Amino acid sequence: MDTIAQQIKTAIRDIPDFPKPGIVFKDITPILKDPVLCQNIIESFALQLQGVRIDAIAGIESRGFLFGLQLAGKLGVPFIPVRKAGKLPYTVKQKVYELEYGAATIELHTDAFEPGQHILIHDDLLATGGTVTAASELITEMGGIVAGFTFVVGLGFLKGKEKITPLAERVIVLAN
Ligand code: AMP
Repeated sequence: MDTIAQQIKTAIRDIPDFPKPGIVFKDITPILKDPVLCQNIIESFALQLQGVRIDAIAGIESRGFLFGLQLAGKLGVPFIPVRKAGKLPYTVKQKVYELEYGAATIELHTDAFEPGQHILIHDDLLATGGTVTAASELITEMGGIVAGFTFVVGLGFLKGKEKITPLAERVIVLAN
């Protein structure tokens, strides 16, 4: 039986030059076609998070919703969508952060969680770590405590893990 990391790496499809030249896009849709692997991913996260206080899971738009919501269901905690600017309908707090070229904005509903709650941040893929760092700052500014980060896959050569390790006690990347 392959390890979870091997199962994920086998399933992921590399798409060269998408969405622009020079980027190798990690297509996770083949994982979604395999319900047993999806279940194994959720079980693996849950096992590695045993004993960690988690009051809610914040998933990053949009592929962070796919496993973030399932993991929240597994752990029996609320799910919070972290969205791009202009998508959330209620009052929001936002964070602007730098990209390689230009800037991006993420938002959370102002009532997404209570101050003092421990929030796990989840996304499908860890690249530079810029997006989850911004999410971490936003959650902290709103009075939350970042319980950790989880990712299905990480692009090790971009050193995102090194960047976010000081921000929380746990960084879980299932496949590198
Ligand atoms: P970063 O902020 O650099 O860690 O980028 C993370 C976000 O961008 C995640 O939401 C990923 O889904 C997406 N992303 C970045 N690079 C890739 C890639 N090579 N393949 C697929 N998604 C990517």
